[in-house]
Amino acid sequence: MKTLLPCLRRFALVANAALVLAASAAGNPTGKEPAVVTAGVAGAPPSDAIVLFDGKDLSAWKGDKDSAPGWRIADGYAEVHGGGITTKEEFGAIQLHIEWAAPAEVKGDSQGRGNSGVYFQGRYEIQVLDSWKNPTYFNGQAAAFYLHNAPLVNASRKPGEWQAYDIVFHPPVPGADGKVAEGSFTVLHNGVLVQDHVPVKGDSTTAAKFSGVTPKGPLFLQDHGNPVRYRNIWLRKLD
Ligand code: MG
Repeated sequence: MKTLLPCLRRFALVANAALVLAASAAGNPTGKEPAVVTAGVAGAPPSDAIVLFDGKDLSAWKGDKDSAPGWRIADGYAEVHGGGITTKEEFGAIQLHIEWAAPAEVKGDSQGRGNSGVYFQGRYEIQVLDSWKNPTYFNGQAAAFYLHNAPLVNASRKPGEWQAYDIVFHPPVPGADGKVAEGSFTVLHNGVLVQDHVPVKGDSTTAAKFSGVTPKGPLFLQDHGNPVRYRNIWLRKLD
């Protein structure tokens, strides 16, 4: 018995170490410790975000034909004017936070009311539209993956009120065999899940700035002729 006890203890230690190793490998294929990130408060950028618009300037963006953006900046927001704007940098998979407000003064209806859009890679649009008591086709209302997938619910706020999209985007990518590996959209509208890991197969949204499947592309904000406002735009790279 005296000689057996230390043996058992040693066995227990080895078994425990093996368990810790197995636990750390499960669901963590890189084996790396998750990075420490200081989170923002209520939509503010976390410590590892790329800030695309902080309310002061649009230096991360360019306008049509590479000109400076013509959008009006006031009181921490930028208002659509004189064409869409495109980020200078290109991105692959991202987590995007963006806030927008449809015009407080209601003009037009359906697709003519508070229309803009967030185009991932300049190709795949998550619709921006005043969808507060403004019927239109379901896969064209606010937070729709335009003409591809309607939102699960309509989480719209009133015109003039600030709204938030939090979007996880994985681009479709060209495969070695010539086929396209599907990407995906997951979208929260004002904190409510509206697109739940919806496939992105590679065909561009109607009227998109670019087409063709690509690993990286710019973010594009649409000018649809309505003075929609944007603020607090940031993203985190996921690849
Ligand atoms: Mg649009």
